[in-house]
Amino acid sequence: RRAFYQSFRDQPAVSRDGYRIKLMINAGLLFDMEGLVESGADGVGLYRTEIPFMARPSLPSVETQTELYDKVLELAGDKPVTFRTLDVGGDKLLPYWNRAPEDNPAMGWRSIRITLDRPAILREQLRALIRASGQRELRVMFPMVANVAEFRAARKVLMAELAREAARGTPPPRRVRVGTMLEVPSLIWQLPALLKDGVDFISVGSNDLMQFTFAADRANSRLAGRYDPLSPAALSILHRVVTLCDAAAVPLSLCGEMASRPLDAMALVALGFRFLSVAAPGVGPVKQMLLSTNIDQVRPYVETLLDLPDASVRENLRSFALDHGI
Ligand code: PEP
Ligand code: MG
Repeated sequence: RRAFYQSFRDQPAVSRDGYRIKLMINAGLLFDMEGLVESGADGVGLYRTEIPFMARPSLPSVETQTELYDKVLELAGDKPVTFRTLDVGGDKLLPYWNRAPEDNPAMGWRSIRITLDRPAILREQLRALIRASGQRELRVMFPMVANVAEFRAARKVLMAELAREAARGTPPPRRVRVGTMLEVPSLIWQLPALLKDGVDFISVGSNDLMQFTFAADRANSRLAGRYDPLSPAALSILHRVVTLCDAAAVPLSLCGEMASRPLDAMALVALGFRFLSVAAPGVGPVKQMLLSTNIDQVRPYVETLLDLPDASVRENLRSFALDHGI
């Protein structure tokens, strides 16, 4: 199979009816960057910066972080990398950071909530990212943003760091793109305000978005079969997000696990997603699906599923795919 996927590695991901989909990878270790070259993906859609923080005995210094991010960008070559700022808490704990236990860690003091409350950590990380980007493009996104005010506060920290670094004589990045993850349902209901606020891009974190939408712990295998992202409820939410982002011409991607599954990815491109960020081994299978999919044919079918009363439309989509040679 691997050899089979390698055979279209250098072919762009274009659907049978000509839509170009950017297929990116999710990464979090330098090792994962090998997957970028090997898979022929278009870039790194999600670099999870917390992984090196978790693997170390103490908080990494600005210098250590700069070196690391520089290596990541070096390994990416001309391809874009979107760095996500520290997303710890919940299930991702730092061994050197003693914290009071929480009853509901997934909904607790985590991610952007921590870094807005402890801005020194965020400032240092952003400083390292600015220094590492040199004259390349800097793409940053913030995790677990629940409202526009949090996005603005985090972006303000980035702008202040950019100004501080410029004053020190650090060469500015060629271009700065600031985005946010969309993984807390409340932000969906502020999307019009967020899009007006000048957000440069949005990336749906479907793992958390589905967990919070269905009130179903993403790590609880007992619930896994009951709540399906291929359901009218979830697809309707994603449909709304695509419609609003398209109208504002703001680039939208999805970087949760569902994008790595070909059938789920088929539904996503039918809904209008044009950027998908997947685990590196997912690139081949998802690209294979895209090459054999006529998106304009799937779209109306997916739209008929949005109003069904079902808990899952996975079987409907599977039959459709089989009937249409996908
Ligand atoms: C997500 O929530 O979908 C996501 C991509 O982020 P993580 O899995 O790191 O929480
Ligand atoms: Mg998440």
